[in-house]
Amino acid sequence: MLSTMDVSPPPLSTLPSETLAALLAPITVPSDSPSARFTNWGLSFTCSPQVVYEPRTEDECALVVEHGRRTGQRVRAAGVGHSPSDVACTSGFMLRTTRLDRVLEMDVEKGIVVAQGGTTLNALHAALASHGLAMANVGSISEQTIAGLITTASHGTGIHHKALSTYARALLLLLPDGSRVHCDPATHPDLYWASLCGLGSTGIVLRVHLAVVPAFRLKELQRSLPFDHVVTNIDSIVHSAEHVRLWWFPQAGTVRVSSSDRTTDPKKPAASFLWHNLLGYHLIQFLFLIGRYLPILNAWICRFSAWLDSAPTVAVDDSWRIFNVDCKYPQYTTEWAIPYTATRACLQDIRIWLEAEQANPNGLRPHFPIEIRFSDADDIWLSPSHDQRTTWIGLIQYKPYGLPVPYRALFAHFESIVTQHGGRPHWAKAHPLRPRDLRRLYPSDLDVPHAQPGKTPRRGFTDFVDVLTRVDPEGLLRNPYIDRHLFGIEDDASGERVFKARP
Ligand SMILES: Cc1cc2nc3c(=O)[nH]c(=O)nc-3n(C[C@H](O)[C@H](O)[C@H](O)COP(=O)(O)OP(=O)(O)OC[C@H]3O[C@@H](n4cnc5c(N)ncnc54)[C@H](O)[C@@H]3O)c2cc1C
Repeated sequence: MLSTMDVSPPPLSTLPSETLAALLAPITVPSDSPSARFTNWGLSFTCSPQVVYEPRTEDECALVVEHGRRTGQRVRAAGVGHSPSDVACTSGFMLRTTRLDRVLEMDVEKGIVVAQGGTTLNALHAALASHGLAMANVGSISEQTIAGLITTASHGTGIHHKALSTYARALLLLLPDGSRVHCDPATHPDLYWASLCGLGSTGIVLRVHLAVVPAFRLKELQRSLPFDHVVTNIDSIVHSAEHVRLWWFPQAGTVRVSSSDRTTDPKKPAASFLWHNLLGYHLIQFLFLIGRYLPILNAWICRFSAWLDSAPTVAVDDSWRIFNVDCKYPQYTTEWAIPYTATRACLQDIRIWLEAEQANPNGLRPHFPIEIRFSDADDIWLSPSHDQRTTWIGLIQYKPYGLPVPYRALFAHFESIVTQHGGRPHWAKAHPLRPRDLRRLYPSDLDVPHAQPGKTPRRGFTDFVDVLTRVDPEGLLRNPYIDRHLFGIEDDASGERVFKARP
């Protein structure tokens, strides 16, 4: 199945322009359609591409790329817009992958599924379940596309589980020159390792060959513990189950600990109608709205929410249902990967800072909770877990009823703490780092050779930029996010606020 052949059809460069235009017409989103504009799920970034295309086939994707090449317009693939940043935004052509959503092959024996890049995880779970299979690990949601997941090195939780991209065994990419290239660890390895966190720029991901496992159930225990207890015992808590995640309610001084392990127990779903629909959704959103106008109340709302959710619970369900959580409202979010060894010190520093804010009558009054997850080290060049066991710390500020709330000062201070602890940003989420910072965080032997006979060379940021430059010398697949963070271009067209929903 993992063919080593490139599978490019004949080049499109000889296609007459009228024919190209006629072929593009059926997949062109009308300019007066709401889909001609792109807004991310969090309602924090928005763009009006020159044209939005919704190809149904891989050949139609190639037509879009050819059109971009001929007209000098950049082409940006977009999944379902769940990235809390402008990583998918463009003023050029947008290639939305919503209709490239087919599961193409299922090899039950080998545990490999081949799916088109626009297949959502929800669709994948359904297809896999019908063959008694499942993804080995999943993050908090399953709405996103498999290509969006992989190209941002998204993660779940579990100290012995790596970034979700590590489950991709091979990719079929459409390159800016129109060729289609199959890559895996043995075939075009540089392209493969770069594309497992390729930020949409190493090629359009047409197909993903994903390693999957026999379907399994998880039993999740949730309990609330004092923050001090959790920090003191962090190592034993993190290793106490296969998948551990924490929600820290700083104003309440408690941490909700979720620990999940495989089980054969009968299903016992957790959610009650009352919690998820009445209290969990409407009441808390209303309280956030009040907190928006009276931020002093946010600490009380936090304590109230921690109390509402404080009883120990047990749930047993299909793996992905336990992995997923109800992410509720639109939100601003920032998430950073710090070395696992820095967890205790970093959490203590965040606590000291938040207590100082709380003690200051004019201090920041954030929402809650802070989400903390864990992943194992991997080899993907730009994965935030590259070469190090990782603790992910994420801060969210909810937008009740979609309304903006203050978040910038909060995120800036948080980022200054996590960066002191060696933090690397989650690529899908907005962050302030530039090539100089990123080169230091993702060292490469191309920058500073550290000759160690017999050791594989370090591959990092510089190798990634090198692949981008080779595969896409004209920058056809770039966008302002890539210009800014990968190439250090700072101009009016690439600024952080170009695609901000509120400039
Ligand atoms: C509520 C919520 C919960 C989340 N939970 C988690 C979590 O638990 N763990 C985690 O790590 N992340 C999480 N994320 C982040 C999410 O996994 C990523 O943002 C993911 O990229 C979203 O996929 P998407 O299909 O929406 O892609 P988009 O946001 O549309 O695009 C993301 C990137 O993928 C590129 N892209 C999309 N399709 C293709 C393609 N076919 N070829 C090439 N490039 C492509 C785009 O150009 C862009 O660079 C969460 C986000 C939200 C909103």
